Amino acid sequence: MSMIKITLKDLSVIETDKNSTPLDVAAKISDGLLRVAVCARVDGALTDLNTPLEQDCKLEILTFKDDEGKDVYRHSCAHVLAMAVKSIYPDAKLGIGPSIKGGFYYDFDFPTPITPDDFVHIEREMENIIKADLPIQRKVVARKSALAQMRGFEEAYKIQLIEEIPKEQEITFYKMGEFVDLCQGPHLPSSGRLKFFKLTQIAGAYWRGNEKNKMLTRIYGTCYEKKAELAEHLERLEEAKRRDHNKLGRELGYFMTEEKIGQGLPLLMPKGAKLFQILQRFVEDEEARRGYILTKTPSFAKSDLYKISGHWQHYKDKMFVIGDESKSKDGADGLLALRPMTCPYQYMIYKNGLKSYRDLPIRYNETAALFRNENSGEMHGLIRVRQFHLSDGHVICTPEQLDTEFKACFELSMFFLKKIGMDKDISFRFSKRDLEGGKYIGELSEWNKAESAMKVILDGLGIEYEEAEGDAAFYGPKLDIQFRNVYGKEDTLMTIQVDLFLSKMFEMVYVDTDGERKNPYIIHRSAFGCYERVMAALIEKYAGALPVWMSPTQVCILPITDRAVDKAREIESLLQGDGVRCEVDARNEKIGFKIREAQIEKIPYMLVIGEREVEQNVVAVRARKDGDLGVMNVIDFRKRIKKEIENKVNS
Ligand SMILES: [Zn+2]
Ligand SMILES: [Zn+2]
Repeated sequence: MSMIKITLKDLSVIETDKNSTPLDVAAKISDGLLRVAVCARVDGALTDLNTPLEQDCKLEILTFKDDEGKDVYRHSCAHVLAMAVKSIYPDAKLGIGPSIKGGFYYDFDFPTPITPDDFVHIEREMENIIKADLPIQRKVVARKSALAQMRGFEEAYKIQLIEEIPKEQEITFYKMGEFVDLCQGPHLPSSGRLKFFKLTQIAGAYWRGNEKNKMLTRIYGTCYEKKAELAEHLERLEEAKRRDHNKLGRELGYFMTEEKIGQGLPLLMPKGAKLFQILQRFVEDEEARRGYILTKTPSFAKSDLYKISGHWQHYKDKMFVIGDESKSKDGADGLLALRPMTCPYQYMIYKNGLKSYRDLPIRYNETAALFRNENSGEMHGLIRVRQFHLSDGHVICTPEQLDTEFKACFELSMFFLKKIGMDKDISFRFSKRDLEGGKYIGELSEWNKAESAMKVILDGLGIEYEEAEGDAAFYGPKLDIQFRNVYGKEDTLMTIQVDLFLSKMFEMVYVDTDGERKNPYIIHRSAFGCYERVMAALIEKYAGALPVWMSPTQVCILPITDRAVDKAREIESLLQGDGVRCEVDARNEKIGFKIREAQIEKIPYMLVIGEREVEQNVVAVRARKDGDLGVMNVIDFRKRIKKEIENKVNS
C-alpha cells in the first residue's frame, strides 16, 4: 500500500497509509487526542475526522478548545436535537440548525406549537441518541436524488435550500441512524462524543429571517465537554435573564409596549421618562459647556430634502414615507417622510447666512426624535425600536480643524461613558466602505482621503479598534463605540463620522482666509447615542439598581405612624428643595411591607420615621447598597446624598 506524508501543526511529519483518516492519525499521536478530537483541518479546509486522506497534506486535529471545534461539536448537537424532534413529532418540518456563539439552535415548523415544558421529553430522546453512539456519515448526493429524497420526507424547507445551492456546488447529506439531513458539515464522527447539553430557550423566527415568510419555532440549546462548564454557562444565562432590560425594565415600570400602538414603539412610563430627562439635561448641559449650539428642527420634511442628502436614493426602504407615491399628484415630489437623521435639517440652519472661516467650527446639537422602519424580527425592547431619540449633532469645520474636532467629539463621548460607569464595557470599530457595495456616494479617491484621515486620527487616540468593511454610513467612514447586551449581542452605542461629501451636495460654504468660498468638512456625531438604547444598557449593567444620581426616585420616606406623616412631609420638602427626588409612602401598611416594596423598586435610600425619630429630629437610614446605616441627623443625611449626587458616584 502506498504511503503519504502528513505535516502536523508543529511541523513534524507522520507517514501513514494512503486513505487513512484524521482519526487514524489522531490515534497514532495519542489516545488523549483520539478521545477529544472533534474535526480536522486538511490543507486549510475543515473536514470530518473520518474523511480519507488521499495525498500528502497539512493536517490539524481540532478539539472543543478550538473555536471551530466548538462550532462543529455544537452543530452536531443540533443534528441530535433535530433527530429527537423528528422521532417525537414526525410531522414537524426541518429548517436550519447552525451553531451560534455559546450554543446552537434548530428551526422547526411544528403542526401544533410546543413549549419549554416539552424540553424534558426532547432532552430524554437526545440522551438516547447520544447513548446509542450512532455514527454520523457523510454522503455526496446527486441533485436529482437529493430532491427526490427530501420530497419523500416532505421536507419543504430542505427542498427550497437544495434548489438554491449553486449548480457547481456538491450536495451532501449526513446520516445518523435513520435520520438524514442536508448539510455541508463537518460533524463529530458519532453522536456518542457529545457530553453535556441543555435546551435553553424557545423563540419565534421567520424562515430565512424574512417577515413575509412563515414564523418557525427556534429551539436554542448549548453543550459542553465538561459538566462544570455547562453549569457555569447556565448560571450566566440565568443572570442575563435576571438583568434583561426587556423584562426588568418593564417590571420596574420604566417602559411598556402596547399592541394597539405598535411594535418598536415603546411608551416611557413615569420612571423611564424621568430617567430620560435626567440623562438629557446632563448631556445637553455638558454640550453647552463645550461650545455646542442647540437647534430644534421638524420631525418630517418633503422628499426634496432627502433627495439632496441621498436618503431618498440610499435609505428610503428604512424610512416612513407619509402618503402614497402612486396616488400623489406630484409623484414622489409631493411626498413627506419622517426623518431618519437630523443632518439635512441642521445644514439648512448653517446655510442661513454666509459663514466665514472665523465662524468655524460650528457645533450644533439636538435631542432629535428619529424614525427608522426596522424589520419586525429585529425589534428588541428599548435597544432596537422604530422611534428613538438621538443625542444628535454636527460639527462643521475647516479641513485643518478636523483632527482637533474629531478628538473633542471622542473625548466628549468618553466623558459621558465614564460618568455613567460604562467606559470599560465598550469596544471600538472603524467602519469603512467596501469596494463592491453601490450604496455609497462620492468618489473613491475622496473616500480614501476620508478613511486615511480618520485612520491617522484613530491611531493618534491610542485606542484599540477593529476594522469593519462595509459598515460605513453611505456618506462617510465612522468610528462606532460598541457594547454588548446581557446575551452578548453587539450593538452600536455611539458613533462619530467623517463626511467630506454632503456639504457639497447641500452647497454649504464658508469664505476662507483667501476670500474663496469652500465646502466645509462635517463630523456627524452622537455624543451619548440613542437615549432608549443607553437606558437599556444602564438597566442591564446595574440590574435595575441605578446609581443614585440617575435614579428616578432617590429617596423613599416611610412613616411608621400617622403622627410621623407630617414629619415625613416636612423632610420631603427639604429634600425636594435640595433637588433630591423623593416620595413619601404614607399608605396604611406595615413598615416591613413598605420596606420590601421600596427594595423591590431598587430605591437607593429609605428613611424610616417613627415616634422616636420625630422627637429627636432624626431619621433611620437604610441604604440599598450598605443596608442599615442607623439613625442620622436630617441635616447630615441631606449633606450625604447631595454630595453623592453631585459627584455622580456610580455604585
Ligand atoms: Zn450539519
Ligand atoms: Zn448626521
